Amino acid sequence: METKDAIIVGAGFAGMYMLHKLRSEGLTAQVFEAGEGVGGTWYWNRYPGARCDVESLEYQYGFSSELQAGWTWTERYAAQPEILRYQNYVADKLNLRRDIRFSTRVTAAHYDEGSNRWTVETDRGDQLETRFVIMATGCLSSTSLPKFDGLENFKGDWYHTGGWPHEGVDFTGKKVAVIGTGSSGVQSIPLIAEQAEHLTVFQRTANFTLPAGNRPLKSEEIARSRTSLLDDRAYARTTGAGIIAYPGNEALSTEMTEAERLAEYKARWEAGGFSFLGSHGDMVMSHDANSLAADYARERMSQRVKDAACAELLLPNDHPIGVKRLCLDTGYLETFNEPHVDLVNVRVHPIERITEQGVQAGGKEYEADALVFATGFDAMTGAINAVDIRGRAGEKLSDKWAAGPRTYLGLGSAGFPNLFFITGPGSPSVLSNMIVSIEMHVEWITDCIRRLGSGNLGTIEVDKQAEDEWVAHVNEMASETLYPEANSWYMGANVAGKPRVFMPYPGGVGVYGEKLAEVVAADYEGFRLSA
Ligand code: NAP
Repeated sequence: METKDAIIVGAGFAGMYMLHKLRSEGLTAQVFEAGEGVGGTWYWNRYPGARCDVESLEYQYGFSSELQAGWTWTERYAAQPEILRYQNYVADKLNLRRDIRFSTRVTAAHYDEGSNRWTVETDRGDQLETRFVIMATGCLSSTSLPKFDGLENFKGDWYHTGGWPHEGVDFTGKKVAVIGTGSSGVQSIPLIAEQAEHLTVFQRTANFTLPAGNRPLKSEEIARSRTSLLDDRAYARTTGAGIIAYPGNEALSTEMTEAERLAEYKARWEAGGFSFLGSHGDMVMSHDANSLAADYARERMSQRVKDAACAELLLPNDHPIGVKRLCLDTGYLETFNEPHVDLVNVRVHPIERITEQGVQAGGKEYEADALVFATGFDAMTGAINAVDIRGRAGEKLSDKWAAGPRTYLGLGSAGFPNLFFITGPGSPSVLSNMIVSIEMHVEWITDCIRRLGSGNLGTIEVDKQAEDEWVAHVNEMASETLYPEANSWYMGANVAGKPRVFMPYPGGVGVYGEKLAEVVAADYEGFRLSA
């Protein structure tokens, strides 16, 4: 059987860097990637308007000034094609492709206690033996298409934003229906509306959205980032979200005068981006604080919509601001001022079925030549559970996680030796700049593998008690926030039957990074190392 030191699942930002790091340690690694190219989320999410919501100067690798020197971002928030070009540039520069098998999905990874090795299988019949399995599968990569009766009879074409055709889709002259108004819907709807003859948007939950404020980057911003990258990234690792633009205001809303608070809201709202959520330190901790900001946001949102009844429908009123992912948009709310765009509230008019000609909701048929499902992802656990992972005594990881993911630090799970997750559940991951969190994990895993040395039996395994305590700690922290109040994908609430558990670590990148360092300083406290 073919053998490698490590198998890496996925060739997005995480898998690419992991491969680079393991190679630099002199290890042999094989990456498997379902797509035909590198990119992960940016390979699949090619819907119109797909764009990053973290600024491009921060949403790039931070480990190499040399890589940075050869690349120039054009916009404040990079669009999907530019990010994918960047990832291909990195793959070329680091000569990564020779160790990536594309169009190949890992189907199984089974641990053998006797040999202390994993056997990894793919849908193309590969079978490899390896010491380490590293899941670089991404948090938002397993698309979620809820069951809609009748979809199989629909006469037109339908698409999911998370698996968009590479050749693009031309909606010119078509009647289009979009289901879903999260970040993907909010980004794609304005551009679909520009082409479509008629657009019907089916909204279940109105989301908080604010203008992204995208613009071309200034040459001085680019020049500054070229010299400050490494320092910026070191600093980013000490912050809450791994983002240095617009630091959060630590003052509580109760410590600010109304005038101070409103000035803070205005400045941050107009700056665009996530900055608004940093207006005061108690944003996701206190209802009173949160509703002050939410009221301000609703007021600003309503100013963008001409029709009062339509504005009312578009204003979120069933969850605190910031506890579902805040959307950043370019012209989203204004789209509903267009005469050829309709909004259907599916809470009042539930979608009953997809018909041959469109969508039937609340007893009425809405004609459509094309359907777009912007219905999101089986987040954080979907792509991991999709692989048949079996650890000690043949235990299935997905069985172990049936009531919610159980990890220590989001890096590993007890009973699954030498199996690592990059940005797994229980780590800051989706509450942070993903690239910063990815780099922290990749570097931690690399150091850990180096610590284990090249001995044949070098093993690291999460201690069950440490895992139980970490899961309890994450749950307790989440319960002190407003996060559990929303039906968000953070809570698994968007996928029928998924356990309702807050999955990311809410304590911030900086605190989490300190914990990672403490664990290493105590020779991997909470893990069992055996030689
Ligand atoms: P999402 O936030 O989960 O939104 C899915 C949408 O589909 C929601 O409006 C949801 O309504 C609706 N929906 C789901 N099932 C439905 C059903 N049965 N009937 C009617 N509506 C239904 O997914 P997403 O928009 O793809 O975004 C996921 C995450 O990916 C984002 O939060 C973000 O982290 C990331 N993302 C980032 C960017 C960016 O960088 N700018 C862009 C896209 C995505 P409910 O809210 O009621 O569940």
